[in-house]
Amino acid sequence: MKEELQNSNQFEELTKELRDTAWMHQGKCVSLDPAIFFPSDGAGVEVAKKICRDCEVRDLCLRYALSHRIEHGVWGGTSERQRRRILKQAKLLSLSQP
Ligand code: SF4
Repeated sequence: MKEELQNSNQFEELTKELRDTAWMHQGKCVSLDPAIFFPSDGAGVEVAKKICRDCEVRDLCLRYALSHRIEHGVWGGTSERQRRRILKQAKLLSLSQP
């Protein structure tokens, strides 16, 4: 019972965090052209990832993109391909859990 409550609280905290998008106003990208983060080639991806590198809300940004299954663009310093890989690994990990 205690564990269920703890899991429930963790779930509520996580969903609250994911609904709260105030962090977006603190991102380094807030005053930049959004097109930078939706590049059409690998060089553009690297430019965007470099901007994200020292963004103070990078972790939140990545969690948001992963949890909302955002497929396009650079989020949290990751490319579309990197996020697909992270989600695939997370799925494999969850399937390997008893
Ligand atoms: S990590 Fe990158 S995309 Fe996310 S808020 Fe920061 S600068 Fe913007």
